[in-house]
Amino acid sequence: MNDPSCGTVLVAGSANLDFVVRAAHVPAPGQTILGRDMATFPGGKGANQAVAAARAGGAATRMLLALGNDAFADPIEASLRAAGVRMDILRAKNEPTGVAFVCLADSAENAITVAPGANTTLRPEHLPPLAGVSHLLLQLETPLAVVSAWAAAAHEAGVTVVLNAAPAAALPADFLEAVDILIVNEGELALLAGPEGDLDNRMRRLGVAMVVVTLGARGCRALVHGDVIVQPGFAVDAVDTTGAGDTFCGTLVAALSHRLPFDTALQRATAASALACTRLGAQAGVPAHDEVDRFLSAPPPLAPLSAALVAQDIQT
Ligand code: ADP
Repeated sequence: MNDPSCGTVLVAGSANLDFVVRAAHVPAPGQTILGRDMATFPGGKGANQAVAAARAGGAATRMLLALGNDAFADPIEASLRAAGVRMDILRAKNEPTGVAFVCLADSAENAITVAPGANTTLRPEHLPPLAGVSHLLLQLETPLAVVSAWAAAAHEAGVTVVLNAAPAAALPADFLEAVDILIVNEGELALLAGPEGDLDNRMRRLGVAMVVVTLGARGCRALVHGDVIVQPGFAVDAVDTTGAGDTFCGTLVAALSHRLPFDTALQRATAASALACTRLGAQAGVPAHDEVDRFLSAPPPLAPLSAALVAQDIQT
């Protein structure tokens, strides 16, 4: 952990404060329902992934983020600091800290509205100097043209560019050309590659050197320089899958920054994200590095890769 010969992971992206209300169901359009308790949690895909890279991955981690000049920024900074993430904070003058309003139904279904606020003020020139950075980890919750410019600058500087293409969006070809590792879920893969063909065909069509598709409880599948790697999921009692994908991304990139082989890195990311599903909260649910070690030394059974389970997951 934190071996000085390993490169730093730089995460550039979103940070929000999540306002989560639990309710019997998600309201229909025009409907008002009475929910139950409300809680706030630090969130945003960028911040979640930075916490995962530092805490579950044990990597030296920095994050470029934008926050407002308001009290909502405080718990976000505190969570990143507690995980050991070094922050490059852009303090937006005229925009508040980003917030997400989450209605979480008892069925685990949710409906989320994000007011991105300060996240929209990030610009290409805000990317910090890349000396010592081995991996740049990006998502799509900040403006697309800005994320694309960061990818191009890092690619030019010889940094490994990792894109988690979430939330799902169509991407210009020149953006993908600057990406070394693409991480998507099945819906995001279908949007980028089209619905035709099996997962491997779709991953190949993207033309990115390394592609990882996460498959929920079924684990993940990767195409690494033409070779397919399959990592089944770990069977756990999931209580909250919010942030599972973010824990996966941060842990995977941290493991790669420690120069672990790709299959070992996928196994650690799958274990950390399965553990995250057993706890509430995106950042609060991220396990510590040694918890991932202990989990992998006595892992629960692997989820079956049966055709029935595959079909069931695709429908949901
Ligand atoms: P996203 O949340 O981005 O849609 P996935 O649902 O594919 O991503 O989940 C990301 C990773 O989290 C999976 O590859 C898997 O390792 C883990 N995961 C998600 N749901 C479960 C679950 N129910 N049981 C075990 N692991 C899970």
